[in-house]
Amino acid sequence: MKLDCEGCAGCCVDWRPLAPEAAGSDRTGSRPPLDDRYDLVPLTRDEVARFVDDGLGDVVTPRLFEPAERDDAVDIDGVDLAAVDDRPVFVVGLRKPPKPVAPIGTDEPRWLDSCVFLDPTTLQCRIHEGERYPRTCATYPGHNLALDAETECDRVEAAGGGDRLLDDDPPEGLPPFSFGPQALGATVFAYPEPDELSGVIRRIQDGEASADDRARFAGAAVGSRPGSLAVTRERMAEARTSARDADSWAGRAIRAWTERAGGDGEAVDGARETVEQTVRELEDDAGAPGTPGWE
Ligand code: SF4
Ligand code: SF4
Repeated sequence: MKLDCEGCAGCCVDWRPLAPEAAGSDRTGSRPPLDDRYDLVPLTRDEVARFVDDGLGDVVTPRLFEPAERDDAVDIDGVDLAAVDDRPVFVVGLRKPPKPVAPIGTDEPRWLDSCVFLDPTTLQCRIHEGERYPRTCATYPGHNLALDAETECDRVEAAGGGDRLLDDDPPEGLPPFSFGPQALGATVFAYPEPDELSGVIRRIQDGEASADDRARFAGAAVGSRPGSLAVTRERMAEARTSARDADSWAGRAIRAWTERAGGDGEAVDGARETVEQTVRELEDDAGAPGTPGWE
């Protein structure tokens, strides 16, 4: 699987404002997500646990789903949610604050929702191939190729973003799909206390989830036991507290970028050097890992 990722970041950035007709949507499939984030990276339980245990619990966020036609569903505050055994199902992904980025060959930085770990200056991943690098990212777009499904690389090419996918062969030894039946408690979770979610679901739907809202799902994911609906309550409570109290460089950068951001897709004010200086202040000098540069 050969890719030309340099200057692309199409799978790390919500580039819909740049080319809405070419971009895809996370709202495809039989279970539309409740939120409108683009290219959410679903994490495994162990990946969520690592972020939480490392004090980075403020980078994760839940995604819930509308039920498909034959799904079990549960109603919370008038919102129908896909459920198992009356428990809403969810995945956990990485947050995407607006950042000043120039992906898929654009010249000037624009405010686009971007993965918390994307370096806006180099358009490289700050955790690439490190111990926190998510499996979803490490194998992308292998599963799409194995399923003969469209990839983000195809969409970027369709938007005039050059040749990105340089061969069509999926890599050998791909891990299991994240959403198969084996996924419950490993990448797809069921929230064990639906009665506690009154108010939370509306905030998630409106893109206004609080730190506590996000933390309760991180806790439930970490406390889950793969292959079952069982949840270890003590581990869940402990992880929820750690996630809620996290105050990492990444969480602070998310807040700072969100406060500074212009409108979705708007050009960024100021010279490129000024933007790069701000990236250094808010991310690199605050503790963000550096990126290696392109070979
Ligand atoms: S969309 Fe494809 S080419 Fe672009 S950064 Fe992602 S994997 Fe690389
Ligand atoms: S973790 Fe890295 S590769 Fe994955 S979406 Fe974020 S920036 Fe992109």
